Amino acid sequence: MASRRPTLPEVEIPSDVPIAKQPFLEYFKGFENLPAVREIFGDETVRVLHDLKVEFFSSKFGYMGVSDEDGHLVVSAYYLKNGDSVSKYLDIVHELVHVRQYREGKPLFDEAFEYHERPTELEAYRHAVKEARRLGMSDQEIFEYLKVDWMSEDEVRKLSRTLDVKPPARRVQGERVR
Ligand SMILES: [Zn+2]
Repeated sequence: MASRRPTLPEVEIPSDVPIAKQPFLEYFKGFENLPAVREIFGDETVRVLHDLKVEFFSSKFGYMGVSDEDGHLVVSAYYLKNGDSVSKYLDIVHELVHVRQYREGKPLFDEAFEYHERPTELEAYRHAVKEARRLGMSDQEIFEYLKVDWMSEDEVRKLSRTLDVKPPARRVQGERVR
């Protein structure tokens, strides 16, 4: 199947960044105008993004996150250089939800829940999935996006169903599936 890439809105996602802490809007241009981001921050969108800092780090491991010490964004320079553009875009939408949650005083890493069931993660994923649908991505494509190396297949499927994204049929090798 030929891959059909969704067209991203008019935003800039840098692929070459310094290992430093920088103003978010200097590197991620146009995000303050996105409906998906306005749905996260409402009237505060421009002010919050204007104040937001992004810290680029150099490890090959990790993707993006939000500091639970002061709510700034943390992004892997390696991921920016090598990651898939749609995934990076949706990850930013996801992380910006965590930025708002931090500002609201919500715990971002509540160990009472597993990752795929944590309320703050579900809220972040709901925004990302809504944006994925707005881009025209299919359930299959969104499911592929949801697959990450820190969730098992079962966890991804559970998360997917929670988010109303239909997981593909399970393929069991060497067995008849009915
Ligand atoms: Zn998250």
